Amino acid sequence: MSIRAQLMMVMALDKCLGCHTCSITCKQAWTNRDGAEYMWFNNVETKPGTGYPRRWEDQERWRGGWMLDGKGRLALRAGGRVKKLTTIFGNPDMPLIDDYYEPWTYDYANLIDAPAGPGTPVVTPRSRLTGKPMDLTWGPNWEDDLAGTLAPDDPALSGVEDEVLLRYEQVFMFYVPRICNHCVNPSCVASCPSGAMYKREEDGIVLVDQDKCRGWRFCVSGCPYKKVYFNHLSGKAEKCIFCYPVTENGRPTVCSETCVGRIRAVGVVLYDLDTVAAAAQTTRASDLVEAQRELLLDPHDACVAAAAERDGVPHEWIAAARRSPVLALAKELRVALPLHPEYRTLPMVWYVPPLSPVLDTLTAAGYDTEDPDEVFPTVGDLRVPLRYVANMLAAGDPAPVQESLRRLLAMRIVKRRRQLGEGSPAAVASEGGMGLDDVERLYRLLALSPYDERYVIPKARREHAGAGQAHHGDDTLGGRGRG
Ligand code: SF4
Ligand code: SF4
Repeated sequence: MSIRAQLMMVMALDKCLGCHTCSITCKQAWTNRDGAEYMWFNNVETKPGTGYPRRWEDQERWRGGWMLDGKGRLALRAGGRVKKLTTIFGNPDMPLIDDYYEPWTYDYANLIDAPAGPGTPVVTPRSRLTGKPMDLTWGPNWEDDLAGTLAPDDPALSGVEDEVLLRYEQVFMFYVPRICNHCVNPSCVASCPSGAMYKREEDGIVLVDQDKCRGWRFCVSGCPYKKVYFNHLSGKAEKCIFCYPVTENGRPTVCSETCVGRIRAVGVVLYDLDTVAAAAQTTRASDLVEAQRELLLDPHDACVAAAAERDGVPHEWIAAARRSPVLALAKELRVALPLHPEYRTLPMVWYVPPLSPVLDTLTAAGYDTEDPDEVFPTVGDLRVPLRYVANMLAAGDPAPVQESLRRLLAMRIVKRRRQLGEGSPAAVASEGGMGLDDVERLYRLLALSPYDERYVIPKARREHAGAGQAHHGDDTLGGRGRG
């Protein structure tokens, strides 16, 4: 056993308004500078949709993340060292600026400086890269709220496109905010030939050492989530830093702090480094979610706590893991799921799947959504949203999504019954696989979301960081990394 502590985030998709406050505040904090114009460490995508960069989920095209080789061992999808050497000056798996978008600004001075004339002066868009006027044809939120005019380009629709395309406009649309997942098995780190990408020992945050980065960009292509960016001015890679100068002081990330919908929870989980490879090498796609859940250890277990102390995890971190909202949502209450577990990077940002679209569908079909006898059996029949969400959050296996939705449904019905003094709440909770205490806990975390319960972040204690793989320095963004 070799225990590590990790900061983890869970986002409840039902509650996301698509307001983009998180993206804007993140940009103001970290990427509001030259060379970073096109970068969105946090972006919010409408699903169905193609995402940012376009079709990032299509690993046949981008070849990011891990796969199993013929012997069932982990291998980078993009190939090993030899392949890298042959493509070091021309990597075919690299997204281009057009796959993201060409950033622009507006010629605001024209509003003031335009000579007097019969027409009203207007602002024209100008490229932030060339300074020249440009036509706007694509942007990071181009398909915001469109829910699928571009759906044929959404890789998660693969296999269900005919069913979905016929009726998705009535059926569902939801938002997926995305940051770097600070993976436990990060393919960006494994792809870096310079040893510049690293995972911090003390909290698992994945960073780029700006002094070591040589700008080869294999991290950009190696990340299946496309959450490493290349700064064309500095010639270095950059990425979400989980706001470490803030989290080190026990406060949530900027995107979390400013989230209007209170959709985010941040906390500590413990895992055993010795079991990481086995979890990532899980053979059957349908076992991936459970294997990644199993990775998260029970901090109440005396053996786990003792091993963690022995391995240098500070006492406050173990205590925080015992109150962890993310452990509760991901493992104890089993409602949160990892984004694309089939990429095998073991992401540490998980999502509670959206229930509202399912309920909308039920209502439209004439079901009484408060009646458990009508609702529970139908969850499994909602093939379209279930399979679509399963393609995103469960490697195509509907079972974990179904389990999560049943629990969310049970919570709603129990709360309603309690409020109205109707029926038997305990029976409904048990239909959802929970006890009444679990329902109350879920309700507090998802509905009430008190600040100090959804963010349980101990202050960092660097003197406890191990001397091993991780901590190579603390300079992560050219000129901006230190808090
Ligand atoms: S999501 Fe983040 S940690 Fe995971 S592979 Fe991509 S850049 Fe690396
Ligand atoms: S701030 Fe919160 S609610 Fe608004 S888009 Fe971001 S994650 Fe969603």
